[in-house]
Amino acid sequence: KPAILWIRKDLRIADNRALLAACEDNRPVIPVYIREDDGNGPLGGAQAWWLERSLARLGEAYEKRGAPLLLKSGAPLAVLRSLIAETGATAVYWNRRYEPLGIKTDTAAKKALLGDDIEVASFAGQILHEPSKFMTKTGGSYKVYTPFWKAFVETVHVPDPADAPKKLTTVAKPPASENLADWNLYPGKPDWASAFGEIWTPGEDGARERLAHFIDAVADDYAAGRDQPAKEATSMLSAHLALGEISPATVWHAVDGTKGLSGENRKKFLQELVWRDFCHHLLFHSPDLADKNWNDRFDAFEWKSDEKSFRAWSRGQTGYPIVDAGMRQLWREGIMHNRVRMIVASFLIKDLMIDWRQGEKWFRDTLVDADPASNPANWQWVAGSGADASPFFRVFNPVLQGEKFDPQGDYVRRYVPELAKMPAKHIHAPFDAPDDVLDKAGIMLGKDYPKPIVDHKQARKRALSAFEAVKG
Ligand code: FAD
Repeated sequence: KPAILWIRKDLRIADNRALLAACEDNRPVIPVYIREDDGNGPLGGAQAWWLERSLARLGEAYEKRGAPLLLKSGAPLAVLRSLIAETGATAVYWNRRYEPLGIKTDTAAKKALLGDDIEVASFAGQILHEPSKFMTKTGGSYKVYTPFWKAFVETVHVPDPADAPKKLTTVAKPPASENLADWNLYPGKPDWASAFGEIWTPGEDGARERLAHFIDAVADDYAAGRDQPAKEATSMLSAHLALGEISPATVWHAVDGTKGLSGENRKKFLQELVWRDFCHHLLFHSPDLADKNWNDRFDAFEWKSDEKSFRAWSRGQTGYPIVDAGMRQLWREGIMHNRVRMIVASFLIKDLMIDWRQGEKWFRDTLVDADPASNPANWQWVAGSGADASPFFRVFNPVLQGEKFDPQGDYVRRYVPELAKMPAKHIHAPFDAPDDVLDKAGIMLGKDYPKPIVDHKQARKRALSAFEAVKG
């Protein structure tokens, strides 16, 4: 009797436990991706661009193995029941997801299908640990990263990745599939993602190539280089991981097993990968992480409603070059370097005093790696409202951050071409540059490049006094 494989954030064939269970003993498999009508699915526009391409690649991979991927739209339970009726399937398998809406949908589907006498089984694979089982010695969830990491390395055995099945069988008459192009996931007009294709290759092969490139050419500079946005020093795997095109276990073992990689680079990378798990842990145990301050003291914080400044921030027009470069990289490429994410988030929250939730939403819509756990957890980290958060009073100075992490200004020049001719010495603070330097660089502030929308020193004071009021 056939088994249905319900595909969600596991757009891969390799190391896919639900797929392996479904095709055991050469059982016919019916792989289906459901465009869910209840809000599960891509988090925003940039991820929808990615999903469209990734589904096309996944369709080819399943086709090649003999079990065509079905695309269906609607409420998952209704879709699954109709497939069961059409094919005589007796089982539904999936890999677990950990965000609240996904859990709600899956729990309800499981209950209903079991009631229909259908076998249901779910598997791990989207993250490295199971948040429901990984608890502190006193039985609570983890709130601080360092003990989480310590317990992780002491107790979690990351399973060896499983190979992809070479061949699959399916039912004699597979049900009809919807057409991917009809879903119009990325309408393309206006074509704001025109540069994405120059950087990204969505899909399992693209993910594997990224990993191989990282290990061959990048990883041995990871610990020292990962904070410098002008360098290629990180893996660029986050979007592939977000949609499950590669399993975190595959990444873990590939890096952990790389011969010749220094212990420092290895450990730093694995720690970052485990931050992803930690964010999922936080979300699992605090399902309203994207909506509510984890620390409710921040509920009384007097955020500003300031659409003009928000617009300047989101368009990369704040007059602070490192902030503008980051926001423009995000718009152009659907990604932003981690160090710069921290700088722009701090600027929005502390310099502009705009609610972190507004920034989190913008990132969700514009990041190809938008993730329901990592995004809010990191925003709350910067805001100081999170579980294991950076203290609110640590306000990033965008000029000093730029000078420290982009000392030659190359990152700024790449994304803010107006400043291409600014010398490194002044590139992070054109508003303090002497007139002759600006003249030589061909910049008239306020015309070619904006004047700062806030004065950082004053903004910092304003933020700290607002914080005093809620500090308690
Ligand atoms: P690498 O440095 O190569 O790290 C390897 C992997 O570890 C990453 O692919 C990612 O999966 C994980 N990782 C690294 N840093 C973090 C971190 N701080 N938190 C969680 N996981 C991490 N990451 C997302 O995947 N999705 C998001 O929506 C997201 N939003 C963020 C918002 C803010 C305000 C900040 C400060 C960070 C956010 N991050 C998010 C974390 C981080 O910026 C990205 O994971 C990282 O930049 C991706 O680049 P990389 O794959 O080259 O990372």
